[in-house]
Amino acid sequence: MNEALKQAKIAFEEGEIPVGAVIVSKNRIIAKAYNQTEKLNDVTAHAEMLAITSAANYMGAKYLNDCRLYVTLEPCVMCGGALFWSQIGEIHYGASDLKRGFLQSNPAILHPKTKVIAGSLGLESEQLLLEFFKKLRK
Ligand SMILES: [Zn+2]
Repeated sequence: MNEALKQAKIAFEEGEIPVGAVIVSKNRIIAKAYNQTEKLNDVTAHAEMLAITSAANYMGAKYLNDCRLYVTLEPCVMCGGALFWSQIGEIHYGASDLKRGFLQSNPAILHPKTKVIAGSLGLESEQLLLEFFKKLRK
């Protein structure tokens, strides 16, 4: 999760909404990504989406059953759907997203085998987001 938070800080520095993600397989980081919706002009370029693609490339396989995702913010419904298709083993997220998080609309969106663990570095993740939006409003 520390590495995911580092990715979120890179996003912050680049003026992107600071969300970072890493995917781990057998205790090795196989993908790192941060939100790049501004840079890529792509509303689908969330950290999780980029990390899923990168991890699948690394694995040479589309399913990520043996992998764990660490992401600083609760995934949105789009990312939840993509995570369903990836059949990812575990999702660890930091801050809750009470507006756009998948748990608000459809917790059953994930694959039945996917475990969800909430709250790791949640405060730090949330703090970074709050700081970002405070800066935007100035
Ligand atoms: Zn998303």
